[in-house]
Amino acid sequence: MSKPRVLFATSEVYPLVKTGGLADISYALPQSLRQLGVDARILIPGYTEIVHHKQLHLTVVRDHLNIFSSLNFPARLLEGIIPHTDIPIYVIDCPELYVRDGGPYQDSKGGDWLDNAIRFGVLSKVAALFGQYEYPSLFEPDIIHCNDWQAGLAPAYLHFGSQPHAKTLMNVHNLAHQGVFGPEVVTLLNLPPQSFSMFGLEYYGLMSFLKSGLYYSDWVSTVSPTYAKEIQTPTFGYGLYDLLAHSEKRLTGILNGINVTDWNPETDPYIAANYSHTNLNGKAQNTLALRKRCKLDNSRSSATRPIIGMITRLTHQKGFDLLIPVISKIIEEGAQLILLGSGDKELEARLQAIAATMPESVSVTLGYDEEFSHQIEAGADIFLMPSRFEPCGLNQMYSMRYGTIPVVRRTGGLADTVVDTLPSTLDNRTATGFVFEEEGSKTLLNCVLRALLVYRDKTTWKNLRINGMTQDFSWKNSAEQYIALYESLLNITA
Ligand code: ADP
Repeated sequence: MSKPRVLFATSEVYPLVKTGGLADISYALPQSLRQLGVDARILIPGYTEIVHHKQLHLTVVRDHLNIFSSLNFPARLLEGIIPHTDIPIYVIDCPELYVRDGGPYQDSKGGDWLDNAIRFGVLSKVAALFGQYEYPSLFEPDIIHCNDWQAGLAPAYLHFGSQPHAKTLMNVHNLAHQGVFGPEVVTLLNLPPQSFSMFGLEYYGLMSFLKSGLYYSDWVSTVSPTYAKEIQTPTFGYGLYDLLAHSEKRLTGILNGINVTDWNPETDPYIAANYSHTNLNGKAQNTLALRKRCKLDNSRSSATRPIIGMITRLTHQKGFDLLIPVISKIIEEGAQLILLGSGDKELEARLQAIAATMPESVSVTLGYDEEFSHQIEAGADIFLMPSRFEPCGLNQMYSMRYGTIPVVRRTGGLADTVVDTLPSTLDNRTATGFVFEEEGSKTLLNCVLRALLVYRDKTTWKNLRINGMTQDFSWKNSAEQYIALYESLLNITA
């Protein structure tokens, strides 16, 4: 049997446009799939960063896209190859919807774009047009791989559209983002009235892109086995847990991999010195460079203090309100803290205020900085992720690869990737980090203190580093699981 052809409909892709982990996955998974012989291609909106990208050469492959009768703007389909890869990318060129100052989802003040329903309705619809074999001379996918709510209407369009059509996989990267809009959007986006039902995309009187994807897709996947279980419970399920529990037989958790080429301490061009698990010497140079860059106290007495790194969106999900009350205690216990992130304005201000009171021990950098994020991974000793929930999480895997010990809450992908340090896991060399259970400042603090204690035992610490650095988090394993899933979908009869 020939390998399935897959259209990967996504709202962001590294290195063209990125707000979080979805961009990394949208780059790495299609690339790994292609290496395994799958013809995987990407479909994405033509944001400013994409249509004006200097190295992305786009050609027009369809001049007039026939999308919705209500859409008054001309739209075209462009085609190119993501720079430095062999991944084909289709771009929906509709400047009125996508070319503007701001991010893919929000304006520069942090407010959602008011026309997001149309912007991502168009993405979903064009994905469905591919799935209905409307562009046979371009690409006839067997599978439409829909990522997050932005592509969630594609399964509905295909369900109500002409037969035969491609199979659909709804891949949930974060159930917290659902794409919920007023009921008028159903007509606006040319969805049939019968779709607006409890057994459809209706969600408490509104319409939900994500629910559409969950309900109408052939299969649902999410980004770790533990998160797949968690979202079937009221705590994590955002009112969709019932539907997900009912869909259990068509719900799979496949752990994300990481890009082991870009995130490799042996070759990373952004860091002060390269190193490996067989020669960790360079790590200390990175620590020194990081302290200098962040202007943290580097006097002889401070030079042995462990650095705790954090790189993240500043949101409720990431547990900062749990961390803030115990930062001073963590510093008192001898650590230094370096944080890179952006998001919630109130959290940004609170964290900056804390850094201002102890600049020799706490550094807070607001913004998004890829290069600096590599330097933190390389230079920090500990990486902290006190997330309330974490569908998969990437930074704990980057950290392990860089010999930086993760301290994490036992949730989602963190639970599936980090093995707590216990006498038994030290003995069998599986320990890779520190894990705490309960959501709370006290449990977080205790776990950090546990890590600080072990940090003083240089031999054990080195063993933890090596255990983490020798884990295989490459995409190959995940990509193989996706291929098996695609193949099983193609065997399902409608
Ligand atoms: P999420 O998708 O919930 O934001 P993940 O851990 O899955 O969290 O992925 C986040 C990705 O974004 C990681 O690659 C992380 O390094 C990166 N990232 C997040 N915030 C920043 C930032 N301020 N600067 C640089 N990279 C960041």
